[in-house]
Amino acid sequence: MVARAARATDLADLDAGVADCFACPRLVDWREEVARTRRAAFRDQEYWGRPVPGFGDPAARIAILGLAPAAHGGNRTGRVFTGDRSGDVLFAALHRAGLANQPTSVAADDGLTLRDTRIFAAVRCAPPDNKPTPGERDTCAPWLHREVELIRPTLRVVVALGAFAWAAWWPALRAGYGVPPPSPRPPFGHGAHWSGTTGPELLGCYHVSQQNTFTGRLTPEMLDDVFARAKLLAGVD
Ligand code: SF4
Repeated sequence: MVARAARATDLADLDAGVADCFACPRLVDWREEVARTRRAAFRDQEYWGRPVPGFGDPAARIAILGLAPAAHGGNRTGRVFTGDRSGDVLFAALHRAGLANQPTSVAADDGLTLRDTRIFAAVRCAPPDNKPTPGERDTCAPWLHREVELIRPTLRVVVALGAFAWAAWWPALRAGYGVPPPSPRPPFGHGAHWSGTTGPELLGCYHVSQQNTFTGRLTPEMLDDVFARAKLLAGVD
Protein backbone atom coordinates (compact mmCIF):
# COMPACT_ATOMS: atom_id res chain seq x y z
CA MET A 1 0.00 0.00 0.00
CA VAL A 2 2.84 2.40 0.82
CA ALA A 3 4.36 1.78 -2.59
CA ARG A 4 0.99 2.15 -4.31
CA ALA A 5 0.47 5.53 -2.65
CA ALA A 6 3.99 6.72 -3.47
CA ARG A 7 3.72 5.92 -7.14
CA ALA A 8 0.34 7.57 -7.68
CA THR A 9 0.93 9.82 -10.67
CA ASP A 10 -1.99 12.18 -10.15
CA LEU A 11 -5.07 12.62 -7.98
CA ALA A 12 -7.22 10.33 -10.12
CA ASP A 13 -4.65 7.58 -9.79
CA LEU A 14 -4.37 8.21 -6.06
CA ASP A 15 -8.15 8.15 -5.61
CA ALA A 16 -8.34 4.83 -7.45
CA GLY A 17 -5.66 3.39 -5.19
CA VAL A 18 -7.38 4.65 -2.04
CA ALA A 19 -10.72 3.17 -3.08
CA ASP A 20 -9.09 -0.22 -3.49
CA CYS A 21 -7.22 -0.33 -0.16
CA PHE A 22 -7.64 -3.21 2.28
CA ALA A 23 -4.70 -2.52 4.59
CA CYS A 24 -6.58 -2.25 7.93
CA PRO A 25 -8.45 -5.48 8.77
CA ARG A 26 -10.61 -3.93 11.52
CA LEU A 27 -11.73 -1.04 9.32
CA VAL A 28 -12.32 -3.24 6.29
CA ASP A 29 -14.58 -5.45 8.43
CA TRP A 30 -16.42 -2.44 9.84
CA ARG A 31 -16.98 -0.56 6.58
CA GLU A 32 -18.32 -3.74 4.96
CA GLU A 33 -20.45 -4.67 7.96
CA VAL A 34 -22.06 -1.22 7.99
CA ALA A 35 -22.65 -1.44 4.24
CA ARG A 36 -24.32 -4.83 4.69
CA THR A 37 -26.53 -4.04 7.65
CA ARG A 38 -27.32 -0.37 6.76
CA ARG A 39 -29.32 2.13 8.77
CA ALA A 40 -33.09 1.77 8.46
CA ALA A 41 -33.46 5.15 6.74
CA PHE A 42 -31.09 4.02 3.99
CA ARG A 43 -32.24 0.41 3.75
CA ASP A 44 -32.94 0.68 0.02
CA GLN A 45 -29.61 2.27 -0.85
CA GLU A 46 -26.46 0.53 -1.94
CA TYR A 47 -23.65 1.63 0.37
CA TRP A 48 -20.22 2.47 -0.99
CA GLY A 49 -18.57 0.45 1.78
CA ARG A 50 -15.02 1.30 0.67
CA PRO A 51 -12.33 3.83 1.57
CA VAL A 52 -13.37 7.39 0.74
CA PRO A 53 -10.97 9.42 -1.44
CA GLY A 54 -10.42 13.17 -1.24
CA PHE A 55 -12.76 15.50 -3.09
CA GLY A 56 -12.51 18.90 -4.68
CA ASP A 57 -10.34 21.16 -6.77
CA PRO A 58 -7.09 19.46 -7.90
CA ALA A 59 -5.45 22.90 -7.88
CA ALA A 60 -6.75 23.81 -4.43
CA ARG A 61 -5.11 26.54 -2.41
CA ILE A 62 -7.11 25.52 0.66
CA ALA A 63 -7.23 21.97 2.04
CA ILE A 64 -9.65 20.85 4.72
CA LEU A 65 -8.35 17.92 6.72
CA GLY A 66 -10.90 15.82 8.58
CA LEU A 67 -10.71 12.76 10.79
CA ALA A 68 -12.37 9.87 8.94
CA PRO A 69 -15.55 9.19 6.95
CA ALA A 70 -18.82 8.68 8.78
CA ALA A 71 -20.34 5.18 8.70
CA HIS A 72 -23.61 6.32 7.11
CA GLY A 73 -22.21 9.44 5.40
CA GLY A 74 -19.05 9.02 3.36
CA ASN A 75 -19.12 5.24 3.77
CA ARG A 76 -22.63 5.23 2.29
CA THR A 77 -22.28 7.81 -0.48
CA GLY A 78 -18.60 7.38 -1.41
CA ARG A 79 -17.83 11.08 -1.03
CA VAL A 80 -16.24 12.69 1.98
CA PHE A 81 -18.62 14.56 4.37
CA THR A 82 -21.52 13.69 2.09
CA GLY A 83 -24.92 12.58 3.33
CA ASP A 84 -24.50 13.35 7.03
CA ARG A 85 -25.11 16.20 9.44
CA SER A 86 -21.44 17.15 9.67
CA GLY A 87 -21.38 17.63 5.92
CA ASP A 88 -24.56 19.72 6.05
CA VAL A 89 -22.80 22.18 8.32
CA LEU A 90 -19.50 22.13 6.46
CA PHE A 91 -20.84 22.59 2.94
CA ALA A 92 -23.29 25.28 3.98
CA ALA A 93 -20.29 27.21 5.33
CA LEU A 94 -18.22 26.57 2.21
CA HIS A 95 -21.09 27.82 0.09
CA ARG A 96 -21.41 30.98 2.18
CA ALA A 97 -17.67 31.47 1.70
CA GLY A 98 -17.99 31.10 -2.08
CA LEU A 99 -15.92 27.90 -2.06
CA ALA A 100 -18.77 25.52 -3.03
CA ASN A 101 -21.32 25.93 -5.82
CA GLN A 102 -24.18 24.66 -3.63
CA PRO A 103 -24.90 24.51 0.11
CA THR A 104 -25.61 20.79 0.34
CA SER A 105 -23.77 17.57 -0.32
CA VAL A 106 -26.15 14.64 -0.43
CA ALA A 107 -24.84 12.21 -3.07
CA ALA A 108 -21.76 11.70 -5.23
CA ASP A 109 -23.70 12.75 -8.35
CA ASP A 110 -25.46 15.82 -6.91
CA GLY A 111 -23.45 18.32 -8.96
CA LEU A 112 -21.39 19.72 -6.08
CA THR A 113 -18.12 21.35 -7.07
CA LEU A 114 -15.57 23.13 -4.93
CA ARG A 115 -13.52 26.15 -5.86
CA ASP A 116 -9.93 26.36 -4.68
CA THR A 117 -10.69 23.79 -1.98
CA ARG A 118 -9.98 20.12 -1.48
CA ILE A 119 -11.27 18.01 1.39
CA PHE A 120 -9.72 14.81 2.65
CA ALA A 121 -9.47 12.77 5.82
CA ALA A 122 -6.52 11.56 7.83
CA VAL A 123 -8.04 8.06 7.82
CA ARG A 124 -9.95 7.04 4.71
CA CYS A 125 -12.22 4.31 6.11
CA ALA A 126 -15.09 4.77 8.56
CA PRO A 127 -13.95 3.59 12.01
CA PRO A 128 -16.20 2.19 14.76
CA ASP A 129 -17.29 5.04 17.09
CA ASN A 130 -15.44 7.47 14.79
CA LYS A 131 -12.24 6.44 16.56
CA PRO A 132 -9.37 5.07 14.47
CA THR A 133 -6.49 3.55 16.39
CA PRO A 134 -3.04 5.14 16.24
CA GLY A 135 -1.93 2.16 14.18
CA GLU A 136 -4.71 2.71 11.65
CA ARG A 137 -3.87 6.40 11.45
CA ASP A 138 -0.25 5.56 10.71
CA THR A 139 -1.16 2.87 8.20
CA CYS A 140 -3.38 5.28 6.29
CA ALA A 141 -0.94 8.20 6.41
CA PRO A 142 0.81 7.46 3.07
CA TRP A 143 -2.44 8.26 1.21
CA LEU A 144 -2.67 11.64 2.90
CA HIS A 145 1.01 12.33 2.41
CA ARG A 146 0.92 11.59 -1.30
CA GLU A 147 -2.23 13.69 -1.72
CA VAL A 148 -0.45 16.61 -0.07
CA GLU A 149 2.53 16.12 -2.38
CA LEU A 150 0.26 16.13 -5.42
CA ILE A 151 -1.43 19.42 -4.52
CA ARG A 152 1.72 21.01 -3.10
CA PRO A 153 2.18 23.36 -6.09
CA THR A 154 -0.98 25.29 -5.20
CA LEU A 155 -1.62 24.49 -1.53
CA ARG A 156 -1.37 27.52 0.78
CA VAL A 157 -3.58 26.79 3.80
CA VAL A 158 -4.67 23.68 5.65
CA VAL A 159 -7.72 23.83 7.91
CA ALA A 160 -7.49 21.00 10.45
CA LEU A 161 -10.92 19.97 11.72
CA GLY A 162 -10.25 18.83 15.26
CA ALA A 163 -7.24 17.71 17.26
CA PHE A 164 -6.86 14.40 15.44
CA ALA A 165 -6.46 16.14 12.08
CA TRP A 166 -4.18 18.77 13.63
CA ALA A 167 -1.88 16.02 14.92
CA ALA A 168 -2.00 14.18 11.58
CA TRP A 169 -0.73 17.28 9.80
CA TRP A 170 2.81 17.22 11.25
CA PRO A 171 3.90 13.95 9.63
CA ALA A 172 2.25 15.14 6.40
CA LEU A 173 4.29 18.34 6.58
CA ARG A 174 7.43 16.31 6.93
CA ALA A 175 6.50 13.94 4.11
CA GLY A 176 5.25 16.60 1.73
CA TYR A 177 7.70 19.40 2.39
CA GLY A 178 10.67 17.84 4.18
CA VAL A 179 9.94 20.03 7.19
CA PRO A 180 10.40 18.56 10.67
CA PRO A 181 7.49 19.22 13.00
CA PRO A 182 7.99 22.16 15.37
CA SER A 183 9.06 21.25 18.87
CA PRO A 184 7.14 21.49 21.04
CA ARG A 185 4.23 20.98 18.70
CA PRO A 186 1.72 23.81 18.86
CA PRO A 187 -1.44 22.69 20.66
CA PHE A 188 -4.70 22.37 18.77
CA GLY A 189 -7.37 24.94 19.44
CA HIS A 190 -10.20 26.57 17.57
CA GLY A 191 -8.61 29.55 15.83
CA ALA A 192 -5.07 28.25 16.38
CA HIS A 193 -2.71 29.32 13.61
CA TRP A 194 0.72 27.93 12.85
CA SER A 195 3.01 29.17 10.16
CA GLY A 196 6.44 27.84 9.23
CA THR A 197 9.06 29.00 6.76
CA THR A 198 8.08 26.26 4.30
CA GLY A 199 4.72 24.71 3.61
CA PRO A 200 1.16 25.88 4.04
CA GLU A 201 -0.28 27.81 6.96
CA LEU A 202 -2.20 25.66 9.42
CA LEU A 203 -5.50 26.75 10.95
CA GLY A 204 -7.31 24.88 13.71
CA CYS A 205 -11.10 24.59 13.69
CA TYR A 206 -13.38 22.57 15.91
CA HIS A 207 -14.64 19.53 14.08
CA VAL A 208 -18.05 19.93 12.42
CA SER A 209 -19.39 16.93 14.34
CA GLN A 210 -22.90 17.02 15.75
CA GLN A 211 -21.33 16.92 19.19
CA ASN A 212 -19.91 20.39 18.50
CA THR A 213 -22.56 21.93 16.25
CA PHE A 214 -25.62 20.77 18.20
CA THR A 215 -24.20 22.07 21.45
CA GLY A 216 -23.19 25.45 20.03
CA ARG A 217 -19.51 24.82 20.67
CA LEU A 218 -19.04 25.44 16.95
CA THR A 219 -21.41 27.95 15.39
CA PRO A 220 -21.90 28.94 11.73
CA GLU A 221 -20.32 32.30 12.54
CA MET A 222 -17.20 30.60 13.90
CA LEU A 223 -16.91 28.54 10.72
CA ASP A 224 -17.39 31.65 8.60
CA ASP A 225 -14.52 33.32 10.45
CA VAL A 226 -12.22 30.33 9.85
CA PHE A 227 -12.94 30.18 6.13
CA ALA A 228 -12.64 33.95 5.74
CA ARG A 229 -9.22 33.70 7.36
CA ALA A 230 -8.25 30.72 5.22
CA LYS A 231 -9.21 32.60 2.05
CA LEU A 232 -7.25 35.64 3.11
CA LEU A 233 -4.12 33.63 3.91
CA ALA A 234 -4.45 31.61 0.70
CA GLY A 235 -5.06 34.65 -1.48
CA VAL A 236 -8.47 33.38 -2.59
CA ASP A 237 -10.97 36.08 -3.57
S1 SF4 B 1 -8.00 3.29 6.65
FE1 SF4 B 1 -6.64 3.86 4.98
S2 SF4 B 1 -4.99 2.33 5.01
FE2 SF4 B 1 -6.69 1.50 6.25
S3 SF4 B 1 -7.87 0.24 4.79
FE3 SF4 B 1 -8.78 2.29 4.80
S4 SF4 B 1 -7.78 3.39 3.12
FE4 SF4 B 1 -6.54 1.58 3.58
